[in-house]
Amino acid sequence: MKVRPKSARRLTRGLRFRLTAGYALFFALVLIGVAALFRSRLESSLDEQMREVLLQEWAAMKGYLQIRDRQPRWFFDRDDPDESFIVERLRRVYMLADAKGNPIQWSTVYHDDLTLDSPEHIRAAIAAAEPSWRIRTDRHGEPYLIRAGVVYDEAHRRPYYVAIGRSLAPSRAIMREYTWIYAGVIPLGILCGCVLGWFLAGNALKPVKEVARAAQRISGSNLGLRIPVRGAGDELDYLIETFNRMIERLEKSFQQIRQFSTDVSHELRTPITAIRGQLEVAMFTARTTEQYRDGIFNALEDVERLSQIVRALLLLSQAESGQLALQKVPLDLAAVLRDLVEQFEIPADGAGVRISADLPEECVVEADRVQIERMVSNLLSNALKFTPQGGTVRVALERLPDSVEIAVEDTGRGIPTEHLPHIFDRFYRVPETHPQPGPEKGLGLGLSFVAWIARAHGGRVEVASEPGRGSRFVVVLPALATPTDQNRQPAGHPAPG
Ligand code: ADP
Repeated sequence: MKVRPKSARRLTRGLRFRLTAGYALFFALVLIGVAALFRSRLESSLDEQMREVLLQEWAAMKGYLQIRDRQPRWFFDRDDPDESFIVERLRRVYMLADAKGNPIQWSTVYHDDLTLDSPEHIRAAIAAAEPSWRIRTDRHGEPYLIRAGVVYDEAHRRPYYVAIGRSLAPSRAIMREYTWIYAGVIPLGILCGCVLGWFLAGNALKPVKEVARAAQRISGSNLGLRIPVRGAGDELDYLIETFNRMIERLEKSFQQIRQFSTDVSHELRTPITAIRGQLEVAMFTARTTEQYRDGIFNALEDVERLSQIVRALLLLSQAESGQLALQKVPLDLAAVLRDLVEQFEIPADGAGVRISADLPEECVVEADRVQIERMVSNLLSNALKFTPQGGTVRVALERLPDSVEIAVEDTGRGIPTEHLPHIFDRFYRVPETHPQPGPEKGLGLGLSFVAWIARAHGGRVEVASEPGRGSRFVVVLPALATPTDQNRQPAGHPAPG
């Protein structure tokens, strides 16, 4: 079957292929390494053996060979087959020469196949006195191990050169046989390694494929699906758990986005319906200029509310997507809060609520003035909005070793416990049990801003509330900055909330 290049590329890129290839490569390297190690061990032990044999023959030769007046004589019992055999072996690869290098006696093999040693070589060997080892190759290419050295005549006066040798052909044949066997075994081993590796990798990756198939079934419309954990407690289970947690977070974000779109369309629909109603009333029922004006005035009020929502939403989305960068400067929070409390005194007076501040002389932190003012204004306007006549609103600022706490507390209507976890969500408003004409209906975005501003400064906001008794919001900001007098800024006017 012809494999198309694309599918071949896909195959070679696959994890299974790569694992198998890695496994086979490793297997091959181990096999080759082991074979090479064994080969060199075998070679050296065969050489060792041969040297041992030659050493014994050298000693035997000294016992059997006697030289008198340049005449070599071999003394041995010719009736003893063992001795005859030993001497015959000794003389198979053998050469004897005098100290000047003149050959005296030699074997046919030494003379015809190896050629006799040169006089220079002989003289050098006699000068060296110590026996030497050599490997010589005959004219047929057969290697010989040669031991050559000095022996003395009977009178122990004249030195003579003697060389005896042994063919290395048998041990080289063993080595060749070994090499051939391994040359056959290694590819077979690698092939087995490939098959085994392919099978093992396939087995190990099978769950991965199952996970991938399960993951493919999960889409935007069924984010509730989870990949079943296999219970093996291995890396794959860990991956599945991580993947499932990711899907869970995605599901939450999807829900939030869905909820947000529903909330936004709901929030925008209300003022649009109101505007439409007011304009229709003006169009169909108004008779006088006064009545027209009233209709348009009411419609404009709702348009204003609509643009407020859009502005706030835009700001919030900019903030949360990180487009609204903080302009942090060393800022005296005590001065900022003092100014804000002062500004809220007039509306507080109007609502019959007493506003008080418990502030230190100064408290400098690194913060964005506009955002801090927006945050405290939101908290203060909420406190005023939900505190009935005769109540109190108190602002406090405290510096702790690692943080700064801004507290805004009131004696207002409080927030039921079940609503507390949601009040920082966008558009969340605690439903009113007995709607009163009192405070203007908010957008449900103020506390979202408060939470974001606190977070953006590396802090957090906490709330404690008791229905009917009041609420206490505490913004905790990190107190990183050390107060410096030169670069402190005076508190300015609050930004529109
Ligand atoms: P809103 O514009 O409606 O004030 P917020 O996000 O500022 O929106 O507040 C969310 C809801 O939390 C409010 O609708 C109100 O029900 C509740 N809330 C906030 N602050 C207070 C407070 N100081 N006392 C009682 N309820 C509060």
